[in-house]
Amino acid sequence: MKITVRGSTALYTVEQLCQMLLPSLEGNCICRVSRSGGMVYAACRMETATGSTSASSRHKLTQDEHTNVNLERRTLARAVYRAALVHLGKEPAWGMLSGVRPAKLVRAHLERGGTQQGATTFLEREYFVSPQKSALCAKAGKIAAEVHKSLQKGDFSLYAHIPFCPSRCTYCSFISAAGDAFRRWGGDYFRCLLEELAMLGRFREEHAMRARSVYIGGGTPAVYAPAELLRLCKAIQDACGKTPEEFTVEAGRPDAITAEKLAALRSGGVTRVCVNPQTMNDQTLRLIGRAHTAEDTFRAFHLAREAGFREINCDLIAGLPGEDAADFHRSLNRVLSLDPENITVHTLARKRGSTFHELQEESTPPEVITEMLADAESLLTAAGYSPYYLYRQKYTGGGFENIGWAKPGHICLYNVSMMEEIGDIFSAGAGAVTKLTSGQFTRFTNPKYPAEYIASTDRLEVRSRELCAYYQDCSVF
Ligand code: SF4
Repeated sequence: MKITVRGSTALYTVEQLCQMLLPSLEGNCICRVSRSGGMVYAACRMETATGSTSASSRHKLTQDEHTNVNLERRTLARAVYRAALVHLGKEPAWGMLSGVRPAKLVRAHLERGGTQQGATTFLEREYFVSPQKSALCAKAGKIAAEVHKSLQKGDFSLYAHIPFCPSRCTYCSFISAAGDAFRRWGGDYFRCLLEELAMLGRFREEHAMRARSVYIGGGTPAVYAPAELLRLCKAIQDACGKTPEEFTVEAGRPDAITAEKLAALRSGGVTRVCVNPQTMNDQTLRLIGRAHTAEDTFRAFHLAREAGFREINCDLIAGLPGEDAADFHRSLNRVLSLDPENITVHTLARKRGSTFHELQEESTPPEVITEMLADAESLLTAAGYSPYYLYRQKYTGGGFENIGWAKPGHICLYNVSMMEEIGDIFSAGAGAVTKLTSGQFTRFTNPKYPAEYIASTDRLEVRSRELCAYYQDCSVF
C-alpha cells in the first residue's frame, strides 16, 4: 500500500495500521488532516484494484497541545480504520489498536484515577476493541498498575542473557547460536557475562539500589553444565547483594534439563523455572526442529517439582505449522494436566531471519488462530488462571497477542515489569537491552552477537558511565 498523509506528520500511525489490518492489500491510501474552529478533521481514501473506499472522522480539540497531537493521530487512525473496514469485511478483535502493549492504556487510565470498567469502555469506544479483548487488557492493566505502585525508588530488575541453544527451531528469529557456536564461544561468553554482572553489582551497591526480580533467559540457559549454572547464580546473588525474592531461569527446552542442573539452580537461589514444550505434539516438534518429545516435557517438569520448584512456567505456541485447533487443544490439556503455576500462550509470528520465513512455509489461517486463542482463554479461565501480562506481535496478520496466564498469587514480577515497561531493567549479555524508566525512557543495547560481545573491550566502562549519567540526570537519588 502506498501511503500519503497531508497536513500531519502521523505517517507512521497510518503505516502501522495498514500493515496490521491489510498486510497484503495493494493500492493507494491517501489521507488528509486539517484543523479549524477548534476541531481536527481527518479523511482517508483507499484506492485498490477492487474499487475505492472513503471515510472521515473529526474530534474536538482541547487546550493541551500534547493531548491534541494524540487526538489528531487517533482521529486520523479512525478515518483509516473506517475506510479499511470495507476491505476487511468484518471488525477485527483489536479494532484499530496497533500498539504492542495495549494494557499500558488501561494502566494509564487506572493511574489517573479511572476504573477498570471505564478503561474497557475507553478501549471499546475509542479504539473499537472487542469486549473480550478489552476485558483481557483490563485484567493485565490492573496487575501492571499494582506492580507499578509496589515499586520504590531505586528498585530494579536484572536480566542475564544466554544466547545459545542445542539446535535452532525453524520459527526462531532470535540471535541465538546453535550447537558449534556454544562449543566455540560458550566459555569466553560466560566469563564476559560474569564480568558485566559484577559491574552492575558495583553500580547497585554504590547507588544503594535493590533488585526486585531476576531473569536468566535465552536461548537456552540450561545448555551450561550444573557447575557453571551454579556459578552464574552466585554471580547474580553477588550482583544483587543477596538472593533475589523472585529469581527465574528459563531452563527452556526439556531436552536440555537434567536433575543435576535443576539441583544447581535450586541451590543457587532460583525460585522459578520455565520448562517450555511449545507443543505436546511429537510430529510438530520434529517439524519445528526441536529434538525432544512430549514425554521429555513430562519428565523435565516432574524433575523440576522433585527439585523443589513451586513456580513453574510452561510456554505454548498457537499456530505452529501443520497444527489445527484440535492439536492445540490437546497440547494445552496435556500441559494443564501438569498443573503449572504459569502458562504462557504465544502466537507464532512469521519473523524475518527464521527458517520458517525463508522457506515461505504456509501460515496458519487467522481464523484458526482466533479459535485457538479463544479456546486457550476458556480452558485456562476454567482451570483458575488469569491473564497477568499481555503483548501483541508486530508481525502477525491481525496483531495477535501473547498472554502470560497465572494462578492466583503466582504472577512473575519480572515479566510484568519488562512487558509493561515499568521499573528499570539492567541487562547483561549479548543483545541484552537495559531499559530505564525512572527518568526519561532510555535504552542501552549490548552488541548483538556473542563474538561481538566478547570482543567489545570497552563495553563495561561505557555502560557504567552511561548508567551514572542517567541517574544523575533524572535525580533519582
Ligand atoms: S529454543 Fe527458543 S531461542 Fe532457542 S532456537 Fe528455539 S526458539 Fe530460538
